[in-house]
Amino acid sequence: MPPTTTVTSNRQADLARVVEAIRARQTFVISSHARPDGDAIGSELAMAFALDHLGKQVTVVNSDPVPGPLQTFAGTDRIVVADRVEGAYDAAIVMECSTLERTGVAGLERSFVINIDHHQGNAGYGAVNWFDATAAACAEMVFDLVVALGVPLTPAIATHLYVGILTDTGSFHYSSITPRTFDIAGRLVEAGVDPTSVARAVFDSNTLGRLRLFGAVLSAIELEHEGRLAVMRVDHAMTAAAGGTYEDTEGLINLPLTVRQIRASVFFKEISSAEYRVSLRSKGLIDVAAVARRFGGGGHRNAAGCGVQGSYQEARRQIVDALAPALDEGMAAEAAAAGQA
Ligand code: 5GP
Ligand code: MN
Repeated sequence: MPPTTTVTSNRQADLARVVEAIRARQTFVISSHARPDGDAIGSELAMAFALDHLGKQVTVVNSDPVPGPLQTFAGTDRIVVADRVEGAYDAAIVMECSTLERTGVAGLERSFVINIDHHQGNAGYGAVNWFDATAAACAEMVFDLVVALGVPLTPAIATHLYVGILTDTGSFHYSSITPRTFDIAGRLVEAGVDPTSVARAVFDSNTLGRLRLFGAVLSAIELEHEGRLAVMRVDHAMTAAAGGTYEDTEGLINLPLTVRQIRASVFFKEISSAEYRVSLRSKGLIDVAAVARRFGGGGHRNAAGCGVQGSYQEARRQIVDALAPALDEGMAAEAAAAGQA
């Protein structure tokens, strides 16, 4: 049975515009955000393989390399790592980026920009914009696009879409999940995805350095806000001592949330002694994206990030102070919702 779209009528018009824009063009550059994750890589490569199938000319450009665990998947070797594109393509398909700057790739604006994203607060920077905050992963949107383009779900395309959904839902943990998420995941498995081997490749490819770095960061965890907020940091010195790299800390931010009473977690990554990269995660109605936006970042309610200037103590104080009321509001909203139930 051929796959059918999961798009509802209010999304049809946006999707139709994207399909039309793609059909009318021949040369494409695809990009996604800096420090790409599974949804960025999965959405890009599924799109690239679909465009190949349509006989289009496709280049994929990211500002940062493919994370190690994802390098085993088909087509990751075709991703060019560069901070600019030369010349103009018929279209630039930009995925997962609330602004064009999030790509870290200059020159995309010279092409006809097709903006496909599911992050709250997308700036609508494209010539065509398809934004769907109800999608648990950008890969859900790309699934609909592949189907609408009449491209068959090959095992490679299906696997990339599955990686996007698996990673962006935190292995089917997050509140962004809808029945559509499982519907699409089911169809991807029908199309030939092997969930066990994908999960092994994505999650079970640790190096000893990564495990030791996890140990060092976790053993220095601090609690704030009556034990509801976990604070962690990593710097260049501890990373070198553990024999790991900053990329090895991918996923570490989620571990404090496995503790029942911890409701939010923040992870400071030292860029320099006066600049920190901040990752935020939360459970339930606690909105960390709103906090990240106040520092010029963004993301989703339960997963967001930003950069902060200043010493570690200064950065920590600012972020913890901003998170405290967000925790209180989120927990109050949850208590109110539970009271009504
Ligand atoms: P991470 O903590 O994994 O880097 O990011 C978590 C989420 O927040 C991702 O969905 C990512 O798109 C978003 N995010 C992280 N950093 C930034 C940022 O600086 N700006 C914006 N707009 N979103 C960010
Ligand atoms: Mn995503």
